[in-house]
Amino acid sequence: MNTKTTNKFDVNSIKNSILMNFILFAIILVALIYVLQGVFMNKYYEQMKSDETRQTALALQEDYKLGTSYFTERARQLSENNGIFIRADFNGTSVIFDSGTSFDPDTSMFFQECLVAREALRNSDSGFISLKTTDPNNVSRYVYACNLESTRGNGKLYVIASLLPVQSTISIMRRQLFYISIISLFIAVLLAYLSSNRLSSPIESLTKSAIELSRGNYNVKFDGAGFTETNELAKALNQASYEMQKTDSYQRDLIANVSHDLKTPLTMIRSYAEMIDDISGDNPEKRKEHLHVIISETDRLNQLVTDMLSVSRLQSNSVELNKTNFDIVKATEEVLETFEVLNEQANYNIIPVLCRPTFVYGDEAKIKQVMTNLISNAVKYCGEDKFIKVEVKRQGRKVRFDVVDPGTGIAADEIAHVWDRYYRTSANQGRGIEGTGLGLSIVKGILTLHNAAYGVDSTEGEGSDFWFIMDVVRKQ
Ligand code: ADP
Repeated sequence: MNTKTTNKFDVNSIKNSILMNFILFAIILVALIYVLQGVFMNKYYEQMKSDETRQTALALQEDYKLGTSYFTERARQLSENNGIFIRADFNGTSVIFDSGTSFDPDTSMFFQECLVAREALRNSDSGFISLKTTDPNNVSRYVYACNLESTRGNGKLYVIASLLPVQSTISIMRRQLFYISIISLFIAVLLAYLSSNRLSSPIESLTKSAIELSRGNYNVKFDGAGFTETNELAKALNQASYEMQKTDSYQRDLIANVSHDLKTPLTMIRSYAEMIDDISGDNPEKRKEHLHVIISETDRLNQLVTDMLSVSRLQSNSVELNKTNFDIVKATEEVLETFEVLNEQANYNIIPVLCRPTFVYGDEAKIKQVMTNLISNAVKYCGEDKFIKVEVKRQGRKVRFDVVDPGTGIAADEIAHVWDRYYRTSANQGRGIEGTGLGLSIVKGILTLHNAAYGVDSTEGEGSDFWFIMDVVRKQ
């Protein structure tokens, strides 16, 4: 596996793409602020000032009607608060209110503006005018002029707001924005760096662990580093690593078991063949005996290979069931017949406890294979007593098949594993009892295909009861 990392900037890496997205986001944001400020700020400010002058003039028009003191008080307030110039001409005098906070160098008079406004007002029918003026110093102003009417006498009102401050405000803001842009870009890069590191670190750690795993180190632990998604991934990978470890150790056991199992009969076959060749060739009785050993060892080899084939077929789901209604009691009797020789020759005591004929729906040959495997195991593991009970009993609309032996039993923590492929309990591994650990996984595969319940009740040192349950059907 190529795990070399180059220093080239990888645009596809999560880290770099987060970094680039953050920077892009910051740039777009800052550019947007620049554009909005440049394009709309002036317009918005002008509109605001024009509204302000008009509102001020309208309010003062009303106050003028109420009385001169009202008017002057309000004019003073508005001028101070809004930084605008107000001039009112009535009773032959001019009253001027200047905020004093104005940015204008010379706000005192605005003679020129007022002159222009008065002229425009005279020519207007609406009683008010609003105009924008620009003086030789390039300072723009909003001028709003209207008539003042009251029973005390009429007059003229001029409200002037300078647009000068906006220029300086904008330039101040631009400068600020420049610093804000630099700071926000810096923060974006920092945040991007931190968050991309935080995000990519679990992935990097998972990748490292996966590489370790691919090198055969099953003890490696996957860590999701706190993110829900990576935690889920880590959990799945830990499970996968556990399964791989299990399969690997099973397979190693299998190779050891199979090579042992193949070697023993092969050695026997070879030595007995040599014996026939050297010694018993002319002695028909001895020759028969030796040939018999050769045949039975060949059978064992055959069984082993058949088991392995069955497992691989069950595993690849390529088993086709030939289902019929058959009598499970009769099937049990037929299977037991093949074990009769053990009763006769090896002092086994295999006792059938059978109910009346009972029909089930399934693949008879496969169910017989299940029975054979369970009884063979009982024969192997029943211990000195050599006593085995094979029971078929009705349970309402079900029928239960049990193989009970008083043998070695199975430790509680191993019971769940006996159905796994290649699993052999630790108690039986060192006893020289031949086996591949495949028998029960074949049983499990076949019974699962039949939707039959199955299980084992066992106590270590006291014996085991392997069972399965099938539905009872009518004969036809
Ligand atoms: P094997 O070829 O080793 O018998 P099986 O799949 O048939 O493989 O059984 C798996 C393991 O379960 C056996 O190795 C044995 O340790 C345990 N086992 C099966 N049947 C019995 C039994 N009747 N009593 C005790 N242990 C049993």
